[in-house]
Amino acid sequence: MGQYIAPLRDMQFVLHELLNVEEELKQLPKHADVDGDIINQILEEGGKFTANVLFPLNHSGDREGCHHDKTNHTVTTPKGFKEAYKQYVEAGWPALSCDPEFGGQGLPLVVNNSFYEMLNSSNQAWSMYPGLSHGAYECIHEHGTPEQKSLYLPKLISGDWTGTMCLTEPHCGTDLGMLRSKAEPQTDGSYKITGAKIFISAGEHDMAENIIHLVLARLPGAPEGSKGISLFIVPKFLSNADGSIGERNPIFCGAIEEKMGIHGNSTCQMNLDGATGWLIGGPHKGLNAMFVFMNAARLGVGMQGLGLTEVAYQNALVYAKDRIQMRSLSGPKAPDKPADPIIVHADVRRMLLTAKAYAEGARAFCSYVALQLDKEFNHPDEQVRKDCADEVALLTPVIKAFITDNAWTATSECLQVYGGHGFIAEWGMEQYVRDARINMIYEGTNTIQSLDLLGRKILMDNGAKLRKFGAKVQAFVEANGTNEALAEFITPLADLGDKVTKLTMEIGMKAFQNPDEVGAAAVPYLRVVGHLVYSYFFAQMAKIALEKQDSGDKFYISKLATARFYFARLYPETAMLIRQARSGSANLLALEADLF
Ligand SMILES: Cc1cc2nc3c(=O)[nH]c(=O)nc-3n(C[C@H](O)[C@H](O)[C@H](O)COP(=O)(O)OP(=O)(O)OC[C@H]3O[C@@H](n4cnc5c(N)ncnc54)[C@H](O)[C@@H]3O)c2cc1C
Repeated sequence: MGQYIAPLRDMQFVLHELLNVEEELKQLPKHADVDGDIINQILEEGGKFTANVLFPLNHSGDREGCHHDKTNHTVTTPKGFKEAYKQYVEAGWPALSCDPEFGGQGLPLVVNNSFYEMLNSSNQAWSMYPGLSHGAYECIHEHGTPEQKSLYLPKLISGDWTGTMCLTEPHCGTDLGMLRSKAEPQTDGSYKITGAKIFISAGEHDMAENIIHLVLARLPGAPEGSKGISLFIVPKFLSNADGSIGERNPIFCGAIEEKMGIHGNSTCQMNLDGATGWLIGGPHKGLNAMFVFMNAARLGVGMQGLGLTEVAYQNALVYAKDRIQMRSLSGPKAPDKPADPIIVHADVRRMLLTAKAYAEGARAFCSYVALQLDKEFNHPDEQVRKDCADEVALLTPVIKAFITDNAWTATSECLQVYGGHGFIAEWGMEQYVRDARINMIYEGTNTIQSLDLLGRKILMDNGAKLRKFGAKVQAFVEANGTNEALAEFITPLADLGDKVTKLTMEIGMKAFQNPDEVGAAAVPYLRVVGHLVYSYFFAQMAKIALEKQDSGDKFYISKLATARFYFARLYPETAMLIRQARSGSANLLALEADLF
């Protein structure tokens, strides 16, 4: 069923040539000894594991799905998933970027990030089981008590236990302030938690011996709304005093959802019937603690979009070189055959290049943000840590929404390359489109990401974070503005930078008069910012490619062509998006609801 080969060359280009990761890591005492060879070796091994172990289970897992047994509340994952997880754990993959104090390998997030791209390309549904565990690890690592850390972190790091995030309830998804699950304090310091959660990814399964649920609930007398939410650690099995697996905790899977995609991942309705839990992050501070998990998950969802874009592109490319239909408009390109391979046709190339450009732009972007995260956590200079934290906060909603929206476009274009065969399950392309669709919805819909970007991250701090990022763009433009060979990249980058500044000010002014202006502009605004980010990275990548295009390595010729395609064919949508963002709220809000 198709193929997946980890894009090691492009990953190495991004890490070593674009981001100079080795030099950057030298400034972080914790990672100073991580050299290029170590990074390349990990990527190679990761490529083998994902291609050989996980990719062969992707299509079969989708066809089979998960099985729920109502009598004993168990969930069985598709054939091969459990065994693959055992191999993953035995190879030490869950520990890659985790804290050595609790058994982790302490490698940088930027390396883990590339491995996550491979996981998602090879099998998104499977990768969500360990992916959520990593989010739980980060949340407990940041907010847990010393006892909670020593009990849960080693098991999450080893992969013996997995994690979940339990936020959503039937009546509340986006608006978590309405959640109703209750937590009653007990004399021993624990809580009894009662409530119903829905759509919980990896909520129940057979891959690990225990599942650590992070559950949002309300304490008695808690303030209304989001200010009265607390976070609890609720394990599937309680632990005995010696740390061994103890009593079953009453948090049960009542059903699993029939859904559009990611069939290999169990999406569970979870019923808590007086389940024992422990507070983490302080009373009524649950959303604050959960944000660590949510931010990690938002970056992770962006990586899911990238992973699917890459694997869809690889397969569409193979197909386009093999499938013969019609002749090229400018005369036969394969005269020995009854027709030309479809890759000769301009529009097939447009579809392939769309996916290629979105994959390469996303890879540069995500790796950059992962490196900023490493610096945020480990740089010795406090100001650098703060600047990196600001940049990550600004760019997280862009990663989540821009990359997953693009992945939906890219996987659909790749399906189109297959013609009718794309629509047929056997070829595997329709699975990528179905799987890509959820990434725009969960972890805060892409609309909510755009409101977060424009409202919270930009307007609420008077554009300070955006200006810091803009200063980096400006510095690059100034340093390279006189290089004529780069003008085709620098001119549109500089132009978009100016337009984003003006657009932000204009929306900010309008929002003073009418807050609805933010909601009306946010979605096209986020896409414009996404293009500013991609323009910045494509201009940098083009610069490197121009310098090395005569090196004999054809990779640089391909990179340059992709950058040119990006600026010629994808970037121009910014003109339309800016018009949409400026068009105001009246065209959306004037119509009374009963006249729709
Ligand atoms: C397969 C799957 C896996 C999931 N995994 C998990 C999980 O592991 N843990 C978990 O807790 N949850 C999970 N979810 C839930 C997911 O995060 C929610 O579905 C999502 O946050 C949206 O909430 P909702 O479905 O209630 O939609 P609603 O909140 O009802 O939103 C409906 C629509 O209204 C829009 N909307 C809402 N408010 C606004 C606003 N202020 N402005 C503009 N538009 C708005 C939304 O963008 C959306 O388009 C999962 C969902 C699915 C389908």
